[in-house]
Amino acid sequence: MVYNSPMPLEDYARKRNFSATPEPQGKVEDRKSRRLIYVIQKHKATHLHYDLRLEMGGVLKSWAVPKGPSYNPADKRLAVEVEDHPLDYASFEGVIPEGNYGAGTVIVWDQGAYELADGYDADPLVAWRKGKLHVRFHGKKLLGIWVLVRTRGPNSRDWLLFKKNDGDADPAADITRQRPESVKSGKTVEQVEKSQVAP
Ligand code: MN
Repeated sequence: MVYNSPMPLEDYARKRNFSATPEPQGKVEDRKSRRLIYVIQKHKATHLHYDLRLEMGGVLKSWAVPKGPSYNPADKRLAVEVEDHPLDYASFEGVIPEGNYGAGTVIVWDQGAYELADGYDADPLVAWRKGKLHVRFHGKKLLGIWVLVRTRGPNSRDWLLFKKNDGDADPAADITRQRPESVKSGKTVEQVEKSQVAP
């Protein structure tokens, strides 16, 4: 279980062979004085999905979102909580070789700072434990307040991600189609995939 795991990043490390994957080994970091970061990585694995990661407690709490985020508040997107990732992971873009956990191609689809929205829990770990996060993103693609709510009880890994109906909401927008590219390299996941395939 990920909850109250005595060894931070234990699940992350157990799933990976760092001599065979370019992903960072990472460690738990203490950087209370800086702004909290978030990243959304588009991950073309067995099934295409988007990995939302929010800095809290020195690691990146992580959710796999099969359909990715939507600016339409009516779109409630399933977000399945996965193992914590190290902060270093936020800039990872590249190809995870066949045979490794999560094999496939990863791009940094969006990245920036986040804060908890006014009027809600101020400590992200408290909000995460309660199963309700109101997050204001300062990204390149995601702006305004987004809601993450745990469903099916306190031990569930299933959450919903959706846009709060604020001034940044846009029911007509289709952000994953309109902006498929990496905010790090400008490349699409297909371009990164091709660039790293051996000739
Ligand atoms: Mn993933």
